[in-house]
Amino acid sequence: MLSRDQHPVSRQFMSSSALKVLYRLNKGGYDAYLVGGGVRDILLGLKPKDFDIATNATPEQIKALFRNCRLIGRRFRLAHIVFGREIIEVATFRGHHDSASDKDQQDIKTSKQSEDGMLLRDNIYGSIEEDAERRDFTINALYYSAKDFKVYDFANGVKDVENKIIRLIGDVETRYREDPVRMLRAIRFATKLDMEIEAQTKAPIKTLAPLMANIPAARMFEEFLKMFIAGKAVANFEQLRDYHLFKFFFPAVDQALDNNDELLERFIILAMENTDKRINNDQRVTPAFLFAAMLWYPLQNYIKQININNSLSPQDTFFAALNEIMPEQQRSIAIPKRFQGVMKDIWILQDKLAHRVGKKAFKAFEHPKFRAGYDFLLLRSEIESDNTQLAELAQWWTDFQDVSPEAQLQMVKGIKGEQSRRRTPRKRRKPTTTFSTE
Ligand code: ATP
Ligand code: MG
Repeated sequence: MLSRDQHPVSRQFMSSSALKVLYRLNKGGYDAYLVGGGVRDILLGLKPKDFDIATNATPEQIKALFRNCRLIGRRFRLAHIVFGREIIEVATFRGHHDSASDKDQQDIKTSKQSEDGMLLRDNIYGSIEEDAERRDFTINALYYSAKDFKVYDFANGVKDVENKIIRLIGDVETRYREDPVRMLRAIRFATKLDMEIEAQTKAPIKTLAPLMANIPAARMFEEFLKMFIAGKAVANFEQLRDYHLFKFFFPAVDQALDNNDELLERFIILAMENTDKRINNDQRVTPAFLFAAMLWYPLQNYIKQININNSLSPQDTFFAALNEIMPEQQRSIAIPKRFQGVMKDIWILQDKLAHRVGKKAFKAFEHPKFRAGYDFLLLRSEIESDNTQLAELAQWWTDFQDVSPEAQLQMVKGIKGEQSRRRTPRKRRKPTTTFSTE
């Protein structure tokens, strides 16, 4: 335990909502602590992403104290206290003998799984010491009290924060078997906090990696966001590949990388670098862009395969390939429909941007996802550096956005070698890019 003057965790770094929840619980006669990333990040001088609270009040008791409270989850119930856009998650201390609960909790947080019909066990709740043992890493088992301003450290987490060490609490293999996502979390905290994974915590990961196959696709989507849409995509990608964990996100990509597909590797790394840069500059990103990039070359391979055996129109070929690749990917990561739509738009735009005569350029320009499609085209041209046609096309669109409408008309008129096409192609054509969508 560290007293007030022995640690830098001060209320000025906490959100006022989190403090309100702590005070209200204390006033109601309960123990309440800030726990997890909230304490860890403040110790490190970082700004916490969110604030989690642990208490000895039961979910019902928490609910009775707050009007803005929702209880979520089936077995292990959590309270969400809602302050506008900020949600403070309040969990009752967990007891022992509750090995499934971490996974359970996460499933509930991230997806609507089917009811498992498990009964609430009496010992599901516990003391703060038991709660600390159920947490994943020592650095995440630090508790701050707004009553005595002390930091309670049950697992030597402060020392590990200081030495920048990611160390699982308890028997390593057991903890990974209970919840294989902890393997991902070890990597994520190591890259995010610039820490080392301690030897024993690191040792079994490769061997236990196959356990990841049982993680529901909805939870994998949440983990995808934390891994790849949080400013550290490239570092996480490299670690995930090293530990043989990447294939649980993108099996087709992983396979291609194993076969030394350098073009694909350069392309996805560039896409991840772009994403990281944007996030670190506080620019908006859509996960759909990275999904589209990950699957672009695998999609092209499907298109090639389909073209060998069939003589479908480019459009039909595209949709046939889509029908192969999307369900396959969905088995790993449940990509929400709205992002699937944007992925498709980005891909379809690659063809639309290549056909510019008549009104086509203007139509493509007005497409709601034009910007993403254009950025994607730039990325492709950067990677396929020997494809001069693609480079010219990218440059053309860069210029097009820069000039007056009259000049745009002139640009369209100046296009050579691109004929306006029939609506229904009669015979099989070799498309310059990929497919036709008309
Ligand atoms: P961040 O929010 O910055 O990603 P965090 O440590 O706050 O990091 P959360 O996912 O918000 O991580 O979880 C909050 C806390 O809950 C963690 O610090 C940890 O103590 C506990 N926890 C979360 N997931 C697990 C898990 N799979 N197994 C055990 N404990 C977990
Ligand atoms: Mg958190």
